[in-house]
Amino acid sequence: MKDVLLMIPGPTNISDAVRSVMGEEQVGHSEPRFQERFAELVQLARYAFRNDTGFQYVFTGTGTVAMEAAVSSTVENGDKTLVLNSGYFGHRWTEINEVYGAKVEELSTSFGRHVSPSDVKKKLQETKYKAVFMTHVDTGTTIVNPIEEIVKEVKAVGALAVVDGVCSVGGIELNFDRLGADLVLTGSQKAIAAPPGGLLIATSKEMEENIGRRKSPISTYYANLLTWKRVMNDPKVYFATHATQLMLALRQALLEVKEEGIENRWKRHKAIGANIRAGLESRGLEMVAESGFRADTVTGFLVPEGKAAEVQSDLRVKHQIEVARGLGEYSGRMIRVGHFGNLRGDQIEYFFEALDDAFRSAGIRTPSH
Ligand code: PMP
Repeated sequence: MKDVLLMIPGPTNISDAVRSVMGEEQVGHSEPRFQERFAELVQLARYAFRNDTGFQYVFTGTGTVAMEAAVSSTVENGDKTLVLNSGYFGHRWTEINEVYGAKVEELSTSFGRHVSPSDVKKKLQETKYKAVFMTHVDTGTTIVNPIEEIVKEVKAVGALAVVDGVCSVGGIELNFDRLGADLVLTGSQKAIAAPPGGLLIATSKEMEENIGRRKSPISTYYANLLTWKRVMNDPKVYFATHATQLMLALRQALLEVKEEGIENRWKRHKAIGANIRAGLESRGLEMVAESGFRADTVTGFLVPEGKAAEVQSDLRVKHQIEVARGLGEYSGRMIRVGHFGNLRGDQIEYFFEALDDAFRSAGIRTPSH
């Protein structure tokens, strides 16, 4: 049976080499050969983030655990924080902040709109916040936020800048050292193209100092960055059993990122994003994200109300392509395609042929097809 072509916004297709690492003999977390590779993995993660100036964490857990680690380590009970909410995952920052006792406010955009740096600036002039939480690419609305400008505003008032890069790191330009954010996180299953379950976090010196200055202990056990710091500094330290196979697969995926070169990878994703958008636009389809802020890793477009499920199912059953639908009120008319990692030009061509076929079956007429 042919492999399913994953075009959901994560997990994505993994290379043969990554896949074969997952099938190797079981390795123990206490074996020196694992610990050596784990240390290499942390260095490779630094490369993917372009993080030479900060601290680097890698451990088992999904992107949400990374978000939880970020919030629980950054804020203390009663701290004032701001969330820049440009969609589904922006709001998740708010929920986690509430769990950890922050007095959190949201600056929200309407669906498919980016967060404007001047709105952020205004908000930061009105109120003093300890930290500002933002999303680089909101996978729900497929918007890419101008985080360079936003981080600049946040740093100008001396707050901590925390970035969810789950749908960008490894695919869309994000140079941690140059960006100047205090924490950037991602998961293994998107543009890095490893299986899900690994998280990667880069932190600035300022963030590390902030954690060191806390008045109260970090109120989470597993996702506690102070505890993981000991493991990062010495992979022989045991805290919790690494998902060894997965960590080795993540190492392999990051080796492939390095082999390609991170800047080349950003360029390649830019070309893929443009290719996908051009194909959709030539079919007269309406994009969900506003022009100028469309992500190069995931794209959302609209089909007639009620048709999204039919198109998704047709692609799955007849063409073995997996795409996602919109979230919430958009589930009936929005389709989201993930296009990161190893997606090739011939696979994109195949996707468009399949999409035309699925549209024909669903009775959707497009101007040019
Ligand atoms: N943030 C963003 C932007 C995401 O796209 C996702 C996952 N789709 C998450 C956070 C949560 O990551 P996970 O599902 O790996 O917990």
